[in-house]
Amino acid sequence: MDQFDLSGRVAIVTGGNGGIGLGMARGLARAGAAVAVVGRNREKSREAASSLGERAFSLEADVTRTSEVEAMVAEVAERAGRIDILVNNAGINVRKRPEDLAESEWRSVLDTNLTSAFLCSKACHPHMRAAGGGKILNNGSMMSLFGAPWTPAYASSKGGIVQLTKSLATAWAEDHIQVNCFLPGWIDTDLTRRAREQVPELHERVLARTPAGRWGEIDDFQGIAVFLASRASDFVTGAVITVDGGFSVSG
Ligand code: NDP
Repeated sequence: MDQFDLSGRVAIVTGGNGGIGLGMARGLARAGAAVAVVGRNREKSREAASSLGERAFSLEADVTRTSEVEAMVAEVAERAGRIDILVNNAGINVRKRPEDLAESEWRSVLDTNLTSAFLCSKACHPHMRAAGGGKILNNGSMMSLFGAPWTPAYASSKGGIVQLTKSLATAWAEDHIQVNCFLPGWIDTDLTRRAREQVPELHERVLARTPAGRWGEIDDFQGIAVFLASRASDFVTGAVITVDGGFSVSG
């Protein structure tokens, strides 16, 4: 369907070199977009980009650093000629109870998961406006909805990104930029592999509470990426959409 066609569009996916970001990058590339894969690990990003076809390319940037974000966005605009789609996906977690969490760990999680989305969105805004509109997709979490003893910084960042989404959506609707947030359930990635090692019975508990009866896979994010990046979602903005196999509606 041509409503979902992304031919001629240029997308940036932060953290696109693995996990959910790579799943989203695959969807965008298959729908025709040129995808810039952004991460700190140059080799991993290069490999991911080469798996996405000849229009994809990789850039090294730490999205917590303003100067690196600005340079990365300028380079994408120069290489690809425009920026239409931004996926704010890069993220980390430090699993500690509040009384054990250092200030530096708090700041690192907030900087990576929330401030980076503000910095990347702000840097892309003039390019999207120049292109006549754009799409920003923010990665939240079940921790945008719930709390847990070991996630004070992570849950704060993921709650914050929902409110950032709503604020950007209202500010930039006049520029024809739609900003939406998707909330993944439990997805099999490096991030959750570490959590499974740290938290006894996490695997079984997730399975028991997920009505779909399985963990999510990175390719479960191809569809939501294409929908939120394409003309099909032109009247959808400020929305918060779960992609969780029913986890959040299960008692
Ligand atoms: P991964 O660890 O596989 O991916 C994290 C990505 O973020 C990597 O590509 C990493 O690349 C990138 N990244 C981290 N820090 C930076 C930084 N400072 N600058 C640039 N890139 C950075 O985990 P997931 O795929 O699971 O996580 C992706 C997103 O999905 C995160 O926002 C996470 O919170 C969210 N999420 C994941 C869930 C899950 O169940 N897996 C559930 C809910 C949300 P590099 O190391 O090269 O910098």
